[in-house]
Formats: sequence, C-alpha cells, structure tokens
Amino acid sequence: MKLQHLVLAFTAALSHYSEACLEHLKERTDVPPLPRKHHPAPRTKTAITNVRVFDGEHISPPRRVIIDGAFISTDPTNIQTVIDAGGRVLIPGLIDSHVHVSTIQDLEALTSFGVTTAMVMACYNYTTCATLRALDDGLCTFHSAGVPAVAPGSKHSKIVNGSLLLLPTDDPAAVVAHTFNNGSDFFKISMTHAAYIDALQQAALSSTDGIQHIPADGPLPSPLNITFHPHQFLTPTLNIFQYAFSNPAILAFLGRSPTDKTNSYANAVTNLNTLRPHIPILAGTDAFGLLVPGINIPFGLTLHYELQNLVEAGFTPAEALRAATVVAARHHRLLNRGVIAPGKRADLVLLNSDPLVDVRNTLDIARVWEGEGSC
Ligand SMILES: [Zn+2]
Repeated sequence: MKLQHLVLAFTAALSHYSEACLEHLKERTDVPPLPRKHHPAPRTKTAITNVRVFDGEHISPPRRVIIDGAFISTDPTNIQTVIDAGGRVLIPGLIDSHVHVSTIQDLEALTSFGVTTAMVMACYNYTTCATLRALDDGLCTFHSAGVPAVAPGSKHSKIVNGSLLLLPTDDPAAVVAHTFNNGSDFFKISMTHAAYIDALQQAALSSTDGIQHIPADGPLPSPLNITFHPHQFLTPTLNIFQYAFSNPAILAFLGRSPTDKTNSYANAVTNLNTLRPHIPILAGTDAFGLLVPGINIPFGLTLHYELQNLVEAGFTPAEALRAATVVAARHHRLLNRGVIAPGKRADLVLLNSDPLVDVRNTLDIARVWEGEGSC
C-alpha cells in the first residue's frame, strides 16, 4: 500500500469507529490458562481413502488424499496409516476472517469446529499474542494485527482500554514499525471498519485492503455509487449483526438503541447482495467469546452460523464455503491454505454429510486435521 493510501486509510479508520466490532474490549484476565488438550501427532504419512473432496466448486467422486507431515502430497510411497473415509466429504480447514482470540482455549474452540486459521483483528498484549502465534501443532493458526490505534476525542478513545492514542503529530511510519517489530502479522490499518454507509464510501476511497462489517444504517443506493479497488475485499460479519439485532442487551452493549429502526439486520443482508457483484466477500464472525455476563459470541460455532447467514442471504453453499476457504486465503495472502491440493497445508475437515446439499452439514464434523496435528 502506498504511503498516501496508508494515511488516507488511517484517516478513514480513525474517524469511523465501528460499534459492531468489539475489539475495544479488554483482554480476558479472568480465565486462567488450562493445560493443552491437543497434542501434535507424530510426523507420519497418512492416506485418507474413499473420500469425496470439495474443490472450491464441486465435490469429487471418492478418491485418495495423502498427508505427509504438515502438507498434502501426491507421493504414494511409504504410507504408514490408511483411513477409510467411507465416502465422507473433505473440505479445507475453515478460515475466520474476523475474530478476537485471546487465550489458548479460544484457539481450541475454533479448532474443534474445524476453524484452522484465525485472522485476529486486534492484539492488546504482544507477549500473549506471541505465545498464541507460536502454537502451531494441532491448534488453529493465529494471525493478528497489533494494538489498535485510536484518535483523540473519538468515541473509541473514551471506551477503549489498552489502545494506542494516536495524535495528529505522531509519525504513522513509526507506529507501523512499532506494530511489526512486536511480531504482528498485519497492520489493522489495512483493514477499515464500515458499519455505516458513509464509512463504506470512505473505505472504498482509501484503497484499504479489507473492509470489515457492512452498513446496516439503511439500504445502499442502487445502482451502487461506490467503486472498489481490485485488491479490496469485504468481511461483512453478518454473525455479529444477527446476534446484536436479535438481542436488545447486545445491541445496547454495542451502543445502538433497540428502538432505533434505522439500523437493521435486513439492511445488512440487502447491502450484502448489492455489494456482492462488486467486491469479494469473506466469512468472518467478530466472535470474542464470553467477556461480559450474559453476552457470549462463541468461537468456531459462529463461523458455521456465518456460512448459514450467507446462504440465507442468497449465496450457494459452495459460494459460502469459498468465502471461508479459498477466497479468504487468497485475500489474506495465506498462499498455502484454503484449498486441498498437493503442497498445501493439511488443514482439513472431514464431514459426515454433504455441505453442498445443506450448508448446516458443515457442523457434522467427523475429524479435523490442522497442519501436523489431528484432533
Ligand atoms: Zn472485531
């Protein structure tokens, strides 16, 4: 991203907070770490036979998939373990493109639901994030942004604890360097929140890579008067909108009035269908777990809800699955993930039933492989 784009993106992000995004919440401190439940499998060579494979569009006739260590292989020699899948369906490990993970238990929950990659949209403690990032042996892979920056006087600056207050005199390049020098995988400024129509317009203009959330404050004009850059993508997080608009307590927690009918889940769905022809769509949840009594947006399960939300909005099950696999991997530049192909990571989910027949079948999980581990 060019510097002027970076600065524009900074301006857009700092001036348009998102009430839908809950990253202003503090890191969880009330839950002590538990002993690890997952253990890395020995580096063995495994053949999964009689398995039908989702190729991003269709499901293949029964075939064989070979796992060699952490990767998918075509070499049929020296296979040590054979697993007869009995005609079950293999899909790539799922990618949640907007999630807030802060503990090992969060990663365990994601993994148990077949979510093998988490794009974590904020890190409030670089030491904790470094620990979670280093766990790559049978647990969901952790990719995170750095500490969020907030503008003085903004709403976020009044409610965010642990964020970086960014003054107009600060050097953006120094802030970026500080973030990456602390191990962050991406800079959140390359993501812009847009839960409102005017924020979406600014996000498109800024050339920011990833636009998070979707306007819910009214229908977008038709024909659409917004032009996106070819590299841009949208993670609408219908999940958090559905939680919020169906629960007055969550809506109030997010700062929206339950009696305000201007904002609605129906608007979010309508706008998704308006935007779909113009920008790639990624599946993300804004899940943060249980942080406030009575408010729980669970990890893992919610990505399956998001797939269902996308299908209810008009996506085919294959399109919804692509939003959580190959399309997400491509736009997050995770080049060895999101597809089942030789040389790619063995992030795999074996399903008992066909997700293209009914997308809810993504929850009918028989087994999950995550790189070198199996759980
Ligand atoms: Zn968020």
